[in-house]
Amino acid sequence: MNDQAFQALEVLYDALAEELQRLQPVCRMSGACCRFEQAGHRLYVTALELEHLRARTGFAGADWSRVKEGACPFLDRGRCGVRTHRMLGCRVYYCDPAFQPRMSGLYEKYHERVKGIMRAHGLPYEYFDYLDRMRAEASHETNGA
Ligand code: SF4
Repeated sequence: MNDQAFQALEVLYDALAEELQRLQPVCRMSGACCRFEQAGHRLYVTALELEHLRARTGFAGADWSRVKEGACPFLDRGRCGVRTHRMLGCRVYYCDPAFQPRMSGLYEKYHERVKGIMRAHGLPYEYFDYLDRMRAEASHETNGA
């Protein structure tokens, strides 16, 4: 994947941050949303978002044992350890009840834009369950393959 696609994604993340700044959803920073199995929800990501995270962080700081508990390997003492480079779903999800009616529309709007970036850069559309993919990554890391 090329860096231009990653840069376009970063521009999109900045635009989303501006929009969220106006909407002011409340985050209590409990980290509950990153413990997927405990929270009973799933995070879906595109290959572009995940490869961007890999390219920018090298997945440094991942605690792969967390995926066995159904949590994100980047959750660090209740905080996101890769906040600057986190994926679209991480940015849009808030447990603030007042924000929930806006959430799916906002996600769809930016997800369509991510798809547009992938198309513009000739990338195939891949969209998958993040935790499933992280389990595969954890097994790769653990086995040293
Ligand atoms: S990348 Fe960060 S915000 Fe997203 S699930 Fe992991 S810890 Fe949570």
